[in-house]
Amino acid sequence: MSIRIFWILAATVFLSACANTTRPGAVGVNRSQFMMASSEDVNRLSAVSYNEQNQKAKEKNILVTSGPTYDRLKFIANRLIPQTEAFRDDTRQWDWRLTLIDAPILNASCAPGGKITFYTGIIEQLNLNDDEIAAIMGHEIAHALREHGRERVSQAAAQNVLVNIAMAVAGPYGSAVSAANQVAQYAIVLPNSRENESEADAIGLELAARAGYNPIGAITVWQKMLKATKANSSPEFLSTHPSGEIRIEQLTALLPSVESLYKAAPKPPHTKKL
Ligand SMILES: [Zn+2]
Repeated sequence: MSIRIFWILAATVFLSACANTTRPGAVGVNRSQFMMASSEDVNRLSAVSYNEQNQKAKEKNILVTSGPTYDRLKFIANRLIPQTEAFRDDTRQWDWRLTLIDAPILNASCAPGGKITFYTGIIEQLNLNDDEIAAIMGHEIAHALREHGRERVSQAAAQNVLVNIAMAVAGPYGSAVSAANQVAQYAIVLPNSRENESEADAIGLELAARAGYNPIGAITVWQKMLKATKANSSPEFLSTHPSGEIRIEQLTALLPSVESLYKAAPKPPHTKKL
């Protein structure tokens, strides 16, 4: 296959599926996203693994469904979730869930479709205040709003499509195959994840500010995270959320854009640290 035809085919695949999952908000996230997989498929599969995670935690007797830490998280989630409507219209219909697992793990996540997980380890070891919990939860919710999981699946699917196109013409060991792999690896997969992190930071900052949580929490939580990394081995959260210093710089630059939202928002009562 000529290089030219290959690129035309590759471009067709990309252009056929560009979308934007969210409105830009005050923080101005407006990157066009490449989506091949459907939201329904990704959300359904994600819910299966979320339920499995919860079932395993239940069997180990570490699934927390009541008590002060659970109530605290639930209260913050209930303030953050309505703010997601600033970014997209359908989140009121989402089946939002909150899971708290009692384990010394420095991690939190929000699976596609609004399935939040927190570990007691991140709250206790970093001694998080409510603003900081809101910052982390807002960041994780933002990944779900932007459908970053679906984007990653789409990228993997596109990689296969490109490989298949190349293989069909050049054979399995043709040079076009390695070209296709390289395209997918370097042009799609690698640069995007860093970008996704910045988007989640920006949208998370705005969600917290709109919910009345001090956006400074997003800065202090990263400072704590960096300190924790230097003190012990690398926390799980940092393996998926690298380069704290750059984040702190970017978040600091975004603070003025959410200042008026924070000032206008009704403030929550803050939980006293135990
Ligand atoms: Zn993230």
